[in-house]
Amino acid sequence: MNKVTLASDWLEGCAGCHMSLLDMDERIIELVQMGLVLTATPITDLKIPAFDTDLGVIEGAVATDHQLEVAKLYRERCKVLVALGDCAVFGGINTMRNWIPIEELLRRGYVTTETTVDGKIPKGPGIGTHLPRCMALNEVVKVDFFIPGCPPSADAIYQVLKDVLEGKTPKLEGKLLSYE
Ligand code: SF4
Repeated sequence: MNKVTLASDWLEGCAGCHMSLLDMDERIIELVQMGLVLTATPITDLKIPAFDTDLGVIEGAVATDHQLEVAKLYRERCKVLVALGDCAVFGGINTMRNWIPIEELLRRGYVTTETTVDGKIPKGPGIGTHLPRCMALNEVVKVDFFIPGCPPSADAIYQVLKDVLEGKTPKLEGKLLSYE
């Protein structure tokens, strides 16, 4: 049985795409029995992907310097890179912020909301700095495969992973290829 290692991470997203991955339910066991090895993921044990990871799966757009670093690291270390969900594929809803100056946006989020008292914009070494624009994953690194949808269905994710484990080029069509 051929092993296929998979690492994943979420960037500027809502975690919904990873929830959809979990929605595969017992089919995750089936994929593991076919040779899938989950290595570094937010739903298992998030860490830096090992060199020569077979599949890197990224949810979310790229909006901060930290996220840019993660995207580049995944590209460097994963043989095949997958953009999971509309945020990674197109930038998604996150790109609405591209028309608003960052400082104004942060003030609205942390200082001037109706329910905030003495708010301040968080800053510090552990907090990423916003890039001038929020971008789709393929604007910053080469992406090999796109799974659109918000979130993509568990069926679509299952189909892609199954195809890879069977040594086929993943192909989404019909109901599995959804932009909703
Ligand atoms: S594509 Fe949808 S479900 Fe996935 S991270 Fe973006 S907003 Fe969330």
